[in-house]
Amino acid sequence: MIRKLLRKVFRRAAPGASDGPALIPAQSHGINLDEVSYAAKKVCTVLQEGGYQAFVVGGAVRDLLAKQLPKDFDVATSATPDEVKRLFRRARIIGRRFKIVHVMIGQELIEVSTFRAMVEADAAEKDEHGRILRDNEYGSQEEDALRRDFTVNALYYDPTTQNIIDYHHGVADLQQKTLRMIGDPKVRYREDPVRMLRAVRLGAKLGLTIDPAASRPIREMAELMDNVPAARLFDEMLKLLLSGHAVKCLKQLREEGLHHGLLPLLDVILEQPMGERFVWLSLENTDERVSQGKPVSPGFLFATLLWHEVLVTWEARKAKDEHAHPALFAAMDDVLGTQGEKLAITRRIAGDIKDIWALQPRFEKRSGKAPFRLLEQPRYRAGWDFLRLRALSGEIDMELVEWWEQFAHAGGNERESMLTAPAAGEGRKRRRRRKRRPAGGDGGNSGTSAGE
Ligand code: ATP
Ligand code: MG
Repeated sequence: MIRKLLRKVFRRAAPGASDGPALIPAQSHGINLDEVSYAAKKVCTVLQEGGYQAFVVGGAVRDLLAKQLPKDFDVATSATPDEVKRLFRRARIIGRRFKIVHVMIGQELIEVSTFRAMVEADAAEKDEHGRILRDNEYGSQEEDALRRDFTVNALYYDPTTQNIIDYHHGVADLQQKTLRMIGDPKVRYREDPVRMLRAVRLGAKLGLTIDPAASRPIREMAELMDNVPAARLFDEMLKLLLSGHAVKCLKQLREEGLHHGLLPLLDVILEQPMGERFVWLSLENTDERVSQGKPVSPGFLFATLLWHEVLVTWEARKAKDEHAHPALFAAMDDVLGTQGEKLAITRRIAGDIKDIWALQPRFEKRSGKAPFRLLEQPRYRAGWDFLRLRALSGEIDMELVEWWEQFAHAGGNERESMLTAPAAGEGRKRRRRRKRRPAGGDGGNSGTSAGE
């Protein structure tokens, strides 16, 4: 009904051609040109002046329509990557799954991709489960729209005319709060199982209901996720967890019985009864930070997600009479070794995770010089945030967290008075360690990386 109405309101680009795209003018769609990034406008103008078609496309148009702040702006064009590169001084062709061009305008990076066509089902290179491995074929704008995943993602905004070109009624779907797949959802999931995850993420992010035709097959097709390369899965998973709607996304995945098998990471997260509370707290905390515009780091997030694995492994090692401190570090390596590989955690993120974990035992030392040294750690704040989550989940006493907050904000005299007497044997131990490491090492946390 609403769709019919909208169709009446929006002037058709090609009257008479019932399948032509809708052309939606600014006064109907409501996107203000000022909200579009300068760099994206510039890229479109230069391409258009060069004689090519060029539009802002995908997530940015969708988010602007939904009154959300776009993460980034992508441009789709009729120019080939080489033609794009020729028009810009700071442009680089990147070739992963397909060739795209990164254009730098000022400080902003715009991803420019050439209109692509969906390769004919039998012609595309696929794995034995039907997953498309390579579909790098250029095409028309209409074909480009057809190969995109959801109708709300197939919208083209022309900054010059300010019109939106809408081939699949994406604007109407967005207004009706529906996430609808372009084409047959089963076929599209088989081609690329990651679309199942995208459906849940985008539904949660935009408050859209997944069209039943697209949500129904997910349960039975979930196992296709097993064949997706870990690195690709990790990218999408990270987007989901850092979307600002992680709790909602994971709850939905769980409700639909999707957490099992859909992602190994979710099994890890949700199957530890002990850690479950901690994980939900940390996801709530991440969502809150995103909504406040505060930075969120994948390292911190994964440190929380895997912490209870570390605790379990640590306990197992201590039960075998290993000393507590080395056992903890060995447990960290065990967990990062197995999960790191399974989840395709990059080496940099693994380093960040370990930094945060390694700080935790140091919060227990409240005597001598140790607390002062800990405060100077570049990762102190992240470590303290982590400590606080541990306390909120009931793992440790909140008193420790409060002590550190007070200590961090206290003046010199007050700090001295807050210190506790060294525990028996602590002084002797430190002297021994100093002898071995005269350079003043600080207990195995040398790999701290800045840049939270
Ligand atoms: P986000 O807000 O997370 O950036 P997005 O929709 O922009 O969401 P991107 O991964 O940036 O996600 O993809 C850009 C566009 O490329 C999408 O809007 C969609 O049109 C298309 N696209 C991305 N992934 C797929 C896919 N797996 N299958 C088909 N089209 C896709
Ligand atoms: Mg995007």
